[in-house]
Amino acid sequence: MKKLVRFSFGLLLLVSFACSSDSSGDPVDDTPTTTDDNGGQTGTTGDPRQDFPENFQATGSSGADIVSNADFDRLVVQIAHVTGFRPTQAAMDAFEEYLRELTFKEDITINFLELGSPDEETLTLSEISEFEIDNRTSYNDGRTLAIYIYFADSPSDDDEEDEGLVTLGAVYRNTSMVIFESTIRSLANRSALITLADLETATLNHEFGHLFGLVNLGTPTINDHEETTTDENNEVIGNNHCNVDGCLMRAELQFTAAKSFAANRIQNLHNPSCQVSASQFIKTLESRVSKGLVAPPIIDTECRLDIEAIGARITSNSAKGY
Ligand SMILES: [Zn+2]
Ligand SMILES: [Zn+2]
Repeated sequence: MKKLVRFSFGLLLLVSFACSSDSSGDPVDDTPTTTDDNGGQTGTTGDPRQDFPENFQATGSSGADIVSNADFDRLVVQIAHVTGFRPTQAAMDAFEEYLRELTFKEDITINFLELGSPDEETLTLSEISEFEIDNRTSYNDGRTLAIYIYFADSPSDDDEEDEGLVTLGAVYRNTSMVIFESTIRSLANRSALITLADLETATLNHEFGHLFGLVNLGTPTINDHEETTTDENNEVIGNNHCNVDGCLMRAELQFTAAKSFAANRIQNLHNPSCQVSASQFIKTLESRVSKGLVAPPIIDTECRLDIEAIGARITSNSAKGY
C-alpha cells in the first residue's frame, strides 16, 4: 500500500496479469449455512475460512469443478466492486458467454456486491484477501460452486512505475480473483480501437483461465506448452502461462518476477504472476480487431486440450475455430 500514485502514461506502460487460480473440492452439504436477503451466506463461526474451507483452497485446484457438472452443476459468480467501478455489462455478457462455451455449467448466476473504497493508494494481495474475508457473501453450497471477483479502485502494489509495469488482474485462491479496474480504465483510454469492455473481457477471461488450472496450475498439460522463466536462484521454472503465440493464456508475456511473490508464498497465497507489455497487449487486441476478430484473445488448442481432459465442453470450440 504505497502512498504514491504512480501512473505516468508518458512512459511505456507494461501491464501485468498477476494470476493464480484454485479449485475447491467437495460441496459443503455438511456445513450449516443461512442465506441472507441478498442470497449471501453466513456460516456458523463467522469466519468464512472455517465455514467454507472449500473456497479457500490452492490456486488452480478447482478446474474440474468449474468446467464439469460432476460435483457442481450451478455456478454463482459474485462481482464485488467498489462503488463506481462496476464492470461494463458488455464485459459481463462476454464473460458469461466464455463460461458457457468452455464449461458445462448452464445454470450461471452473476450477482453484484457494491462495496465502499478501502481508500488505499495501492493494494497487496493480502489486503485484497482480507477484504474478501470481510465482505464476500457467496460460497459453495451443495451443488453450487461460487466464485468471487473483486473489482478494485486502486492499482496493484506490484506495479513498478519505474519499470513501466502495471497489473490488470490476479488470482490468489481456487475461487478468488481480483481485477484492477482503475488500471484497466486508464489503459482503455490509450486505444481508439479497443474498448473498456474489450480489456475487461480479456483480463477476466485470462484470469479465469487460471481458475481452470491453466497452465499447469492444477490442471496437467497434455502436451508441454508451458512458458518458462528463471526464479531468484536463476533456476528455470514454469510460469503457468502458455508459450503459443496468440493464446489468451500467453497474452504477450514479458515478465514474471512480481516482487510480492515471496511474501504471498509466505502467507500461503499461491500467486504465479504474469506480466505483459501493455503496448504489446493493446497491439495484439488491435491486430485481432483489424482481422475482423473479437478483440480478446481466445485459448489455443493446447490449452483447450488441457481443460478438455478435466471435463471442459469441447463442441463449441471447434465450431468457433479455436
Ligand atoms: Zn496469467
Ligand atoms: Zn495456450
